[in-house]
Amino acid sequence: MGELCVRSVVVTGANRGLGLGFVQHFLRMPKPPQWIFATCRDPKGQGAQELQNLASKHPSLVIISLEVADPASIKAAAAKVGAHLGDSGLNLLINNAGMVKSKKLDAETLEDMTETYTTNTAGPLLMGQAFLPLLKKAAQGSPGSGLSCSKAAIINISSIGGSIASAFGWDMMQLVSYRCSKAALNMLSKCQSLAYKEHGILCVALHPGWVQTDMGSSAGHAPPVTVDDSVQGMLKVISSLSEKDTGAFLDWEGKVIPW
Ligand code: NDP
Repeated sequence: MGELCVRSVVVTGANRGLGLGFVQHFLRMPKPPQWIFATCRDPKGQGAQELQNLASKHPSLVIISLEVADPASIKAAAAKVGAHLGDSGLNLLINNAGMVKSKKLDAETLEDMTETYTTNTAGPLLMGQAFLPLLKKAAQGSPGSGLSCSKAAIINISSIGGSIASAFGWDMMQLVSYRCSKAALNMLSKCQSLAYKEHGILCVALHPGWVQTDMGSSAGHAPPVTVDDSVQGMLKVISSLSEKDTGAFLDWEGKVIPW
């Protein structure tokens, strides 16, 4: 396994759940990133209290306002990150923010489908576009050939719920709009990997496991995996990725998930 050595990282949805877990793990690394950009919708609000506490102790942690369903907000966030980075690029973009409507097939609506797709699929697409110049800059500035997450990468936090082959958890949770949005996110990850390979940017879709967060618990069942174990596992996977893995759909333990 290669060592993950990133100078800069952006994490979306970083105020709670897995996003906050990523930020905590980055801060605890033996060689932490020089810049950790933790984005959330309401940086000054009660829901970002833990992030605010961390930022007051760690100058490397910068909280940035970002609503992933709003293109103007995404552009403004990319400009702020660029201003902090100066001449250097962005190594790692973790598209983690996501939402779910816990509904059965018959109850899904146009509004649910649209809102969920906008957040879970269009958001990561627009994030990739807006941060592309910064990711390219990091790739160009990194020595050596081949792709890696220490160089430049987009990690899309997807879900096994979006796997057409596995249909994981159907009897417990139908979550149709969510499953469709994540299946589309998997396709987006593949497309990004094909388009961005020539720029030196690795792209994957990662399933974090079924994790003890607000979302993981929202259907009324107890998830088996802790945030710490999931994030630790995903970081281990991220550190091990190389050119052969770009475009893959993997879980938090590094196993390939069938599309
Ligand atoms: P949580 O519900 O705990 O957190 C979701 C995060 O996403 C929050 O920070 C939330 O912000 C943010 N968010 C939601 N919508 C938007 C938006 N429009 N713009 C910006 N931020 C937004 O979820 P998890 O931590 O569990 O999930 C993280 C990722 O992992 C998601 O993509 C999810 O689909 C995926 N995943 C989770 C699984 C699990 O078992 N937990 C299983 C499989 C995948 P706010 O506080 O403002 O609402």
